[in-house]
Amino acid sequence: MSVTSTAPSGSPGNPRWDRAFFGHPVGLSTLFFTEMWERFSYYGMRALLILFMTATAAKGGLGFPASKAGAVYGLYTSLVYLLGLPGGWVADRITGQRKAVLYGGIIIAAGHLLMAFPSLETFYAGLVLIVLGTGLLKPNISTMVGELYSATDKRRDSGFSIFYMGINLGAFVSPLVCGYLGENINWHYGFGAAGIGMTLGLIQYVAGAKYLGTAGTKSNGTPRDVALFQRTAAGLAAIVAIVAALMFSGILDANRLSDLFGIFLVATVAIFFGWLLTNKHFTSEERGRLGAIFVFFFAAALFWSVFEQAGSTLNLFAERNTNLHAWDFPLWGLFRASYFQSFNSVFLIIFAPVFALVWMKLGKREPTSTSKFSIGLIFVGLGFAILIPVSSGVLVSPWWLTLTYLLHTIGELCLSPVGLSAMTKLAPVRVAGLMMGVWFMATSVGNFIGGRIASVYESFPLPTLFAVVAGFAMLIGMLMFFLSGRMKRMMGGVN
Ligand code: GLN
Repeated sequence: MSVTSTAPSGSPGNPRWDRAFFGHPVGLSTLFFTEMWERFSYYGMRALLILFMTATAAKGGLGFPASKAGAVYGLYTSLVYLLGLPGGWVADRITGQRKAVLYGGIIIAAGHLLMAFPSLETFYAGLVLIVLGTGLLKPNISTMVGELYSATDKRRDSGFSIFYMGINLGAFVSPLVCGYLGENINWHYGFGAAGIGMTLGLIQYVAGAKYLGTAGTKSNGTPRDVALFQRTAAGLAAIVAIVAALMFSGILDANRLSDLFGIFLVATVAIFFGWLLTNKHFTSEERGRLGAIFVFFFAAALFWSVFEQAGSTLNLFAERNTNLHAWDFPLWGLFRASYFQSFNSVFLIIFAPVFALVWMKLGKREPTSTSKFSIGLIFVGLGFAILIPVSSGVLVSPWWLTLTYLLHTIGELCLSPVGLSAMTKLAPVRVAGLMMGVWFMATSVGNFIGGRIASVYESFPLPTLFAVVAGFAMLIGMLMFFLSGRMKRMMGGVN
């Protein structure tokens, strides 16, 4: 996963095409629409996931209690992002990014289409395929965006912003489409629509490949890497088969599996950072920066653990504690819980340019990365804090959740793009690609915790639950504020 490259391998040769997509290389349009459709499928399905699992069998659902549904949700969304680490490695060493994205897309589409069949086996098999496919697609398509620009091209950051818009365009439309079909007609139509979306994305990707130049076609592995991959894949397949057998025979349940995975995740993070921070190959300056990356990682994991409850806790809050009928409207009929899943993306599309402008206008007074992280954590906490007084059980106005999503989006805009760019700026060049994986690892940890929190939705008083979530995020946010000076020294000039 190289983050920077010296030559713009994404240029298809004709200079006219170098500015054909909003002033950016035409290849960006191919990647933009592919990722738009991939996120369409991801967020469309995710909008339905916990609602489908907790719906009774009479309503076509799986009839899981929230404890089990939260565990499965957390495992799934966490693995989707964790697999980005090996997914990046496979592209680097074996397939190249170009093919990794293609194979990933095919596997994702197959996963969603499997879920269009109403059985427990196809449900779980579908989830496994989406995890594998997204691991291959998500990190590598981001790397290819970087390859469209030369190392000195000033358009790189704005290229990533345009790309982030594509993500949110897909994430905005799909909960409305899949949510409408899934909640009104049949859950499996909603899942099928996600699969069709990914298929359209694939057709577009293959048709638009000619615009990508040589981007993503290189891989630098040896036959030893291929052998390692084959052994690891066989081992993984065996583990999946054993886990599936244990689960279907009732020996292992989703909650225990989730416990085991939690231990695995903590161990992975501890071993990874233990190795990174004690590695003798880094200079003391580099080690300071890696320490800063660790602080950012910790803060980002906490941020995403609150933010990513959109699809879990907050989705349940929309369904069970919000007066959705307040927003029934002849044009769209009944207002559904899943529609709330679009709100974050709508706000993001509106406010991303505003924030870009504000940072620019502030010039020298623009807050440091650490301060922005701090603001991000405080806002995401605030989003939950405002729900405390209205979470005692009576149905509340949908405006409350709307405000929550607005606050969460403001938090996201302070933290997400800043974090990504801080990772690339702070990482020693030879582990730059790995640091992209670290960023997704933070999302993975966050999603896992977010799912676990949803699993106590029925067993914990909501005001207490929300207060703990809000309090913790805001406390760490304020702590970060005081760390700002120290972080500045650790970051050695980057900020
Ligand atoms: N919404 C963004 C995406 O889907 C970021 C998600 C995240 O990193 N938690 O890519």
